[in-house]
Amino acid sequence: MFMDKIAKYECVEALKKNGSPIVIVSLVEESEAVLNACREAGIQVSAFCDNESRKTKRDFCGLKVFHTPALKKYLPEARFIIAHHNIKDCARQLHELGYNEIYSSLELLKNYNVTKYKHRVTQPYMASKILTSKATHDLYFDGSKTFLRSIDVMITTKCSMNCKNCCNLMQYYVDAKNTDEKIIEAVELLTENVDYIGEFRIIGGEPLMNKNWAEIINGITKKDSNRKILVYTNATISPKDEQLESFKNKNVNFYITDYGKLSKNADKMEEKLKHHNIGYMRKPADNWVDCSNVRQHNRSVSRLKQVFKECCAKKFYTLLNGKLYTCPFIANAANLKAIPDNKADYVDLFSEKQNLKNKIKRLINMENFFPACDFCDGRPNDPTTALEYAGEGLIKAAEQTSERLPYREYE
Ligand code: SF4
Ligand code: SF4
Repeated sequence: MFMDKIAKYECVEALKKNGSPIVIVSLVEESEAVLNACREAGIQVSAFCDNESRKTKRDFCGLKVFHTPALKKYLPEARFIIAHHNIKDCARQLHELGYNEIYSSLELLKNYNVTKYKHRVTQPYMASKILTSKATHDLYFDGSKTFLRSIDVMITTKCSMNCKNCCNLMQYYVDAKNTDEKIIEAVELLTENVDYIGEFRIIGGEPLMNKNWAEIINGITKKDSNRKILVYTNATISPKDEQLESFKNKNVNFYITDYGKLSKNADKMEEKLKHHNIGYMRKPADNWVDCSNVRQHNRSVSRLKQVFKECCAKKFYTLLNGKLYTCPFIANAANLKAIPDNKADYVDLFSEKQNLKNKIKRLINMENFFPACDFCDGRPNDPTTALEYAGEGLIKAAEQTSERLPYREYE
């Protein structure tokens, strides 16, 4: 049944046998659970691997982390378990590197008991991540379904910080505003026209800048209280108790990016989330890969394919003002009119109601590139090895500016 897939489903029996080293693919939160499940099943894992070279500097859960593109040098033969949600791209990359024994983590996570372990993230947060991971791997094997592992629902372009290199392009907005007029309607239209959405990520700017942020979340969960919500926040604004209280018995989690002193309410937010038993993850901002310029490159088709191939954000599906985009760069560049309007870059959920399902399918399954990619410097996992990247490389996160940055506006 799974013959046409590079990654295989049944891994436990095969991996228990002696053989080449076993590597878990990518350092996502679920990777820790995959490691626990392996140990429980008697599978000896040797290492992790990840496409971001900066993540390979430190061990993860006590094991070495290899840089995936350089794996062959260190492990000429290896067996792999993919923990990353984008199993298709991971499997393809490993296959291109010359590896053949590649497995999904689905079988391992099927009966994983989250409560049995203490993880690096809170228990509800891990439970939510595992649910999404299992669903996306399931859909990989199904093949016929349209699914979005996550959708970034942009509820405002206002931010409480002014990062010069914001990859969502907030630094260009002169007239930042909330986008909540038809958000719920757009979310429903989208869910009616795709088979599965793993997570609804509530983002901005800073989503808590929109005073209706909690109502919007409750609006999204109204139709289906099992919908998984992840609020991406910079922790500058403390949520009110009654707002958090309204998420009781719902699958709402927070992802706090900790910008040190700038995230002035991070401790308070963490305390409140604990108090209301809401899952969260708090992570330091780390360095960024610069990808915030909007400028035309006039790339050839093969160069455009390369920039798209190397892009780590091409499946960060984004909903902004009733339009579905496949990445936040295109969403905001189009919203700002910083790129020429091109219908090939998005699906307008409200005006393209005919054949909407097919139009969405075509957009999210794009394998080549979008016209807007020519205006992007590229967003590779690893800027040092990317072949088609025009940005500054790794930069300090969250450098603040007091100005709105200028850009060329198209008609
Ligand atoms: S990167 Fe900075 S400006 Fe952009 S949304 Fe996050 S906190 Fe706001
Ligand atoms: S514009 Fe293209 S290359 Fe840039 S982030 Fe989006 S999908 Fe990636």
